[in-house]
Amino acid sequence: MSSFPVSISPLQPTPLDVLGQVFGYRDFRGPQEAIVEHVVRGGDALVLMPTGGGKSLCYQIPAIVRQNAGHGVTIVISPLIALMHDQVGALLEAGVSAAFLNSTQTFEEGSQLEKRLLRNELTLLYAAPERINTPRMRGLLASLYERGLLSLFAIDEAHCVSQWGHDFRPEYRSLSLLHETFPDVPRVALTATADALTRQDMIERLKLEEAREFVSSFDRPNIRYTIVEKIDPTRQLLRFIESEHHGEAGIVYCQSRKRVEEIAGTLLSAGIKAMAYHAGLDSALRQQRQDRFLREEGMVMVATIAFGMGIDKPDVRFVAHLDMPKNIEGYYQETGRAGRDGLPADAWMVYGLQDVVNQRRMIDTSEAASEEFKQVMRGKLDALLSLAEDARCRRVSLLGYFGEDSQPCGNCDNCINPPAIWDATEAARKMLSCIYRVQQASGISFGAGHLMDILRGKITDKVAQYGHDSLSTFGIGTDLAEAQWRSVLRQLIAANMVRVDTEAFNTLQLLPDARQVLKGEVSVLLRQPAPSARAERTRRVIRTSARGLAEATLNAGALERLARLKAWRGEVAREHNLPAFVIFHDATLRAIAERAPVHLHELEGISGMGTKKLQAYGAEVLRVCATLSGATSISSAP
Ligand code: ADP
Ligand code: ZN
Repeated sequence: MSSFPVSISPLQPTPLDVLGQVFGYRDFRGPQEAIVEHVVRGGDALVLMPTGGGKSLCYQIPAIVRQNAGHGVTIVISPLIALMHDQVGALLEAGVSAAFLNSTQTFEEGSQLEKRLLRNELTLLYAAPERINTPRMRGLLASLYERGLLSLFAIDEAHCVSQWGHDFRPEYRSLSLLHETFPDVPRVALTATADALTRQDMIERLKLEEAREFVSSFDRPNIRYTIVEKIDPTRQLLRFIESEHHGEAGIVYCQSRKRVEEIAGTLLSAGIKAMAYHAGLDSALRQQRQDRFLREEGMVMVATIAFGMGIDKPDVRFVAHLDMPKNIEGYYQETGRAGRDGLPADAWMVYGLQDVVNQRRMIDTSEAASEEFKQVMRGKLDALLSLAEDARCRRVSLLGYFGEDSQPCGNCDNCINPPAIWDATEAARKMLSCIYRVQQASGISFGAGHLMDILRGKITDKVAQYGHDSLSTFGIGTDLAEAQWRSVLRQLIAANMVRVDTEAFNTLQLLPDARQVLKGEVSVLLRQPAPSARAERTRRVIRTSARGLAEATLNAGALERLARLKAWRGEVAREHNLPAFVIFHDATLRAIAERAPVHLHELEGISGMGTKKLQAYGAEVLRVCATLSGATSISSAP
């Protein structure tokens, strides 16, 4: 494959030339332009951008511009070997000369690569951090450096250097040596990790104190957040996928391996293409399933959190949580895997009391952790629970958690269907005093189910056995439905007024903060739980019309063309052993289908259609579109 200089003009392209000609995009997004210019000039940069924000171009474009100006190769350090393959594949498709170094290569392949580097034939070289520090690689880098052919270091997923981040990788620590050995080679470090502690640690570890920081908003406006009460999770999930994401790619997160297997089975029997993924499967099978998820269209991956790190698939249309994650950081990271292509996507979660109990238990019983650590983890869990129970805009709460101010978004469940707020002060007092009375009368604590039976005046065997029907709180809660009581209880747990004793049969105990409510010193405002059937319907109608917009503008002929183009793309992707989106994104195919091109020049300017791709695929694309005009009338006949 030839390198890009043949397919780009002028000889010394500007970043904007490269953006258009190589990647086929017209405008930079957000801070990309400022970052690219800074790095092209040889400045160090620290780039904080959410997943899907467009970090790759922030080093790929400088790499191309600088290579063209005679500065040599850019070394990209990335933690995941599996994904380097696809990234390099995408660059080659765009006509950029790129390669990766990994441990599966033979000595001969390694030598070939070295020769190409020394001949200055590469624009980007991807490598895992442990490969950078081998004596052989260091020697090679040194000789490139001496000849002035070491242009830039790009450190992707830079938070891996910090133990405070969620994916600490000790090998990243040695990357500080790069700066010591090659002080005048500029560096750009990139991450989607927002939290301040990790950020500071990263700067110190990588010695980036002098680097310019570029912090983007962490908002992902195309993702719609929805959090609903868990009632019958499997059915809720099926309904969600069937009504809103039929035939689309998505990820479903469950907490346990067993649950993952069950849900994958259920989806399959409902005719939804699905696979299971968890750490209990052997690594070859995991790899194979990950590849299929990336390469096949409309695949649903049901997984534990073992799945997802570095998954660059742009067209994941939904991320569903059937169990609650541990904290907001985890939730945001996992949901962030939806909609990287900027098209509408859903982050949908069901949660219930049992989730809270399970997560609490995991914290309480973890043996390795100190009490201090557990306390921090409990606080983080409570923050997530508050988000779930919150009646305000989900995005405002989420971004607020990361220290960012924002306005109600109009694209979350609470904005679309503002939940009714009710004054739950009286209910909370009833619940708390019921817990108190039961404990006082029996000398032991009881679980949520029993408490709710007492409140709602149900005479069960257990109620009779303990004589709890004679308590003053028996039957004082008949005015509320069970779902409302559960919601009250969750909120009291989140507010640290009630504790679930996970070591004693999940019994409920009062905490000191309960006193405020019992004394009537604070009031409790809650969202109305479980949206009514009518609200669910409204949501769906709004949803369908929003989603329908893009498709609605396509007439029957264009829809046919789109289907043909997708089938053709699938073949090309298989031939090249690459995921389909590396060939063309959905959005690009949609634009082509809409334009119904007959001549090559009509493909110019379509987003995602760079010069190289136009040369390589233009004629084919025209042919695929042309076969169509005759077919439309046949296929649209009844
Ligand atoms: P990140 O690494 O930050 O998660 P990527 O670099 O993978 O994000 O970019 C996300 C998606 O956005 C990619 O599919 C990429 O092609 C696309 N993209 C990035 N920058 C632009 C741009 N300026 N115009 C159009 N699409 C872009
Ligand atoms: Zn909102």
